Amino acid sequence: MDKKETIRFMDRIKSHYQEFVIDDFKISEWYGKLKYYDSEDVNKKLDEHLASEEYGDSIPKIYFLTKYLIPTEEKGKIKHYTIYCPKCGYDIPDEEINHHTKRCYEASTIVRDFKRYFYKNLQKSKLMSLPDEEFEKLYQEYMNKMLSCERVEIFRKRILIHIMYPEYTDNDINKIIKQMVGKEEKHE
Ligand SMILES: [Zn+2]
Repeated sequence: MDKKETIRFMDRIKSHYQEFVIDDFKISEWYGKLKYYDSEDVNKKLDEHLASEEYGDSIPKIYFLTKYLIPTEEKGKIKHYTIYCPKCGYDIPDEEINHHTKRCYEASTIVRDFKRYFYKNLQKSKLMSLPDEEFEKLYQEYMNKMLSCERVEIFRKRILIHIMYPEYTDNDINKIIKQMVGKEEKHE
């Protein structure tokens, strides 16, 4: 950040902590330390400090404000790259790949199974863009629908139960499957 941003930043501190003194010497001291960082990052740190129940009452120290920040110069050196998703064939930014891969596989499975067992065409692109919470809800519904549908093969239900309850042993799952089969037989 530049000198103007430093002064503006110190004014912000002053507005929250009357005891905070600003003079020329202090400005050049703070500027000397803050110039390596982005104004936006430093201001965000101050916001966090102000919101902190533990530290919010005391004047923020420059050491803590900058402690975990990445200097502007180094930021430029962090290279971002894209990773190929084998499921959909798109190149995905590295920061999104973990979230994307999980969603991409789950969404494909839901689309495939809705078509196969419930004769419904869902759009994968819509599932991809759902907020996490909504997608989780849909995924739960999908699981329940699959487990209670008689057309879904036992081996597939077994896989779904494995995903839903990773802590269940094979024995536990066998018992559940047995109960399901029992119920289905009664229906017929
Ligand atoms: Zn994908």
